[in-house]
Amino acid sequence: MTDAPRPADRPAPRSTDGESFAAGARVAVRLPLPLTDAYDYKVPEGLTLSAGDFVRVPLGPRRMAGVVWGKGSGDVPEAKMKAVVARLDVPPMTHEARAFVDWVAEYTLNPPGAVLRMAVSVPEALEPPKPLTAYRAADPLPEIRMTPARERVLAEAADGPPRQAAELARAAGVTPGVIKGMAEGGALVPHAIAPFPPPDPPDLAKGGPDLSPEQTAAADALSAAVADGFSVQVLEGVPGSGKTEVYLQAVADCLKAGRQVLVLLPEIALSAQWLERFRARFGSEPALWHSDLTMAQRRETWRHIAEGRAGVVVGARSALFLPYPDLGLIIVDEEHDGSFKQEEGVVYNARDMAVVRAQLGKIPISLVSATPSLETQANVDRGRYSHLHLPARHGGADLPDIELVNLTKTPPQRGQWMSPPLREAIDGTLERGEQALLFLNRRGYAPLTLCRACGHRLQCPQCTAWLVEHRLLQRLQCHHCGYQMAPPPKCPECGAEDSLVPCGPGVERLAEEVAALYPEARVAMATSDNLYNQRTAREFVHRIENREVDLIVGTQIVAKGYHFPMLTLVGVIDADLGLSGGDLRAAERTYQLLYQVAGRAGRAEHPGRVVIQTYMPEHPVMAAIAAGDREAFLAAEAKGREDAHMPPYGRLVGLIVSGTDEAAVDAGARALGRAAPQGNGIQVLGPAPAPLAMIRGRHRRRLLLKAGRGTQVQPIVRDWIRRAAIPKKVRVQIDVDPYSFM
Ligand code: ADP
Ligand code: ZN
Repeated sequence: MTDAPRPADRPAPRSTDGESFAAGARVAVRLPLPLTDAYDYKVPEGLTLSAGDFVRVPLGPRRMAGVVWGKGSGDVPEAKMKAVVARLDVPPMTHEARAFVDWVAEYTLNPPGAVLRMAVSVPEALEPPKPLTAYRAADPLPEIRMTPARERVLAEAADGPPRQAAELARAAGVTPGVIKGMAEGGALVPHAIAPFPPPDPPDLAKGGPDLSPEQTAAADALSAAVADGFSVQVLEGVPGSGKTEVYLQAVADCLKAGRQVLVLLPEIALSAQWLERFRARFGSEPALWHSDLTMAQRRETWRHIAEGRAGVVVGARSALFLPYPDLGLIIVDEEHDGSFKQEEGVVYNARDMAVVRAQLGKIPISLVSATPSLETQANVDRGRYSHLHLPARHGGADLPDIELVNLTKTPPQRGQWMSPPLREAIDGTLERGEQALLFLNRRGYAPLTLCRACGHRLQCPQCTAWLVEHRLLQRLQCHHCGYQMAPPPKCPECGAEDSLVPCGPGVERLAEEVAALYPEARVAMATSDNLYNQRTAREFVHRIENREVDLIVGTQIVAKGYHFPMLTLVGVIDADLGLSGGDLRAAERTYQLLYQVAGRAGRAEHPGRVVIQTYMPEHPVMAAIAAGDREAFLAAEAKGREDAHMPPYGRLVGLIVSGTDEAAVDAGARALGRAAPQGNGIQVLGPAPAPLAMIRGRHRRRLLLKAGRGTQVQPIVRDWIRRAAIPKKVRVQIDVDPYSFM
C-alpha cells in the first residue's frame, strides 16, 4: 500500500472490551460468512457474555459458531430474535483481533464476515479437544499371567509419562492386543492426556552467536522496540549479513517478556534451513502454520495459539489471522516478496496488514529484506519507518562477482541454452569440486508446444494460456487452472504426425542439456514439482549440504534464503524473463529476484561468481545488477514511478469483472466503465480484456482506478460499485493496491 496504514483515521470498531451482556440483553454476533452485518441475538438465561466470546447461534435451520462483536443494533424485533445457544469453551477473540477483522474488511472492501472466516479458519478448533487415553503401569500390580511380551510392556511403561496404547505397543514390540489385555486385567491403568502436547517452550538461556558491532547495534534497536509499543523497523542487509541472527535476538527478548511472536515467511513449507536454525537457537520447535498441515495439526495449532501455549508462530500470510491472546512482535522476512499478496477471496497484502495488526496491538514489527520494496523504502524516506542496515556479509565474505553475458553477441549453440562463457564457468566450478546453480524461472520442459506443419499452438481449453509440457510426468499442464492432458500423438488441428515441437526452455529441458553436456556431474532439480513440502525440501537441502550434488537446476524456489557453503557459481539462463508483460513492478521484481539468486553464490570462505545471460545488457536492471549499484537503480525506478503517479507515489485499485457468460461480463464491465468516478485527480483505465482474458472458463475484464497518494479510495470504489448496474451472475473482485495485473 502507498502509506503506512492509519487505523486511527477509520471509524472506531463497534466492539468495546469490558462490556458484558447479562441474560435478556441483545448482542451483535458476527458469523464467519460473507456478510456485512452482525446479527442480533438474545443472551439466554444463565449466561453472561462479553465482547469477543465465541458462541453457538441458530441460523435458519443450522447452528453455527460466531463471535460476540458488541451490543446488538436493535433492528430485529424482540419477538423475532433468537437466543444464543451456548458459549464455546475457547479463549475469547481479543479486542485487537476483532478490530483487525473490521479494519481489513474496510480497507479491502470485503464484508467483515468474510475476513472473520479467515480468523476462524478451523471451526473444528472451537470444540473442546477430546482427551486421549494413555496407560501407565499399575502400582501395586494385580495378579496376572505374565508372558515375555507383557514383561516388556511393563518395563516400558515403568519409564516416563503415560503413553497411548499404539505407542506403548510399538516401544515394547508387542501387538496392541497385548496392551488391551493388560488394561482389562488391571495391570495397565488408563490416564487421560491432552492430545497433541503443545510445543516445548523455547530455551531462552541458550543464546545465539556473538554478534558483530553492526549486528549488535541493529539487534539492540529491535530489542529496544520490543519494549516500546508500535514501531516499524526495516532491517536491510545483503544476503548472509546476519539479518536472521539479529531478529532472532528480538524474538528471544519478546519471549522473555512472556509474549508471543509471529514470523511471516514466504514458502514456509520449504523453510527447512530456517527451522533448523530456530531449533539450534531455541532447542525447540516453533508452531508452524501453512497449507501443508493436516486438519488435526491445524486444529491443535490453532488451539495452542489461542491458549497462549505457542510462543513462536512461523507461518505464511494467513498466520496473521490466528488467535494470539498476547502478540508482542511481528517479523516479516523477505518483506518484498510477492507471495505475501493473497489474490483469491479476500485480496490482501499480508505485509501491509501485518503493519496494521502491529499498530492495533501497539507492538513493534520488523520488515526484513536484502532488497526492500519501493513501498517500504518510500515509508523510510518519509520517516514513518526506521531503518537498520547491516552493511557487510558476516565474516567479511565478499559479495559475488556479477557478469553479464550478452546473448546477441555470444549466443549458445543452436538448440542449447547455455552460452560459452557460462559453460566455461561451470567447467571451472566442477574442476574445483564446487557446486553450481543454474537458474531458470520456468517449470516444466517447454512453455509452448507448436505444430511445425500448421503453426497451431496447444492451448488450455479453459484459460487464455499455453499448455506447458512436463516431460517427466508426460503431461501437458495449464499453470493457471491445473488442466492437464497426455501429449497428443498428432496435431489436434491439422492431424500431422510427429509435427509437435517444444518451444523455449523450462527447467526440465535445461536439466536435459546439462546431463548431455556434463554426463559425469550429479544433477538435482529444484522446482515446486519436486520440492513441495518440508520433507522433500529437507532432503534436498541435505543432499546439497552433504555434497551429493554438483549442479542444481532450479526455479525461484531456490532463490530464497538457502545457504550452501560450496555453491560458488550461479548461472542465470534467461534474466529477461520477468521483464516482459509491462507490469508496474516488473523491473523491481526482476532486480530483487536476480539479486536474491545471485546471493546464493559464495556464501562462506569460497568466493562466488554469477553469470547472467541476457539479450538486454543495457537495460537499467541488468546494468544495476552488474555494477552492484542498487541505489542508482532504486532512484531511477522511484523517479519513474513518481513521474507517472504510480505506487508508492499514487494509488491503484483493480477491478476484475468475471463470469462464465461473456456477454454478461461485458455488460457488467461497461456498466462500471459508464459509472466511473471522476474528479479529484481520479482516472479510470478500462474496461479492457484482462491479459488472462479467461481463467477456468471464466471471462475476465479489468478496470483500474488511479488516484493521488492522499486519496481515500475505499468510499470512492464503494460508491462506484453501488452506482453501476452489474448483472447478478457477474462477479466483481476488488484489488486495493494490486500486485498482479493479469
Ligand atoms: P541473512 O538472514 O542476512 O541472510 P543470516 O542471519 O542467515 O543472514 O546469517 C548468514 C550466516 O552467517 C548464517 O549461517 C549465520 O548463522 C551466520 N552468522 C551470522 N551472524 C553471525 C555471527 N555474529 N556469528 C556467527 N555466525 C553468524
Ligand atoms: Zn487452464
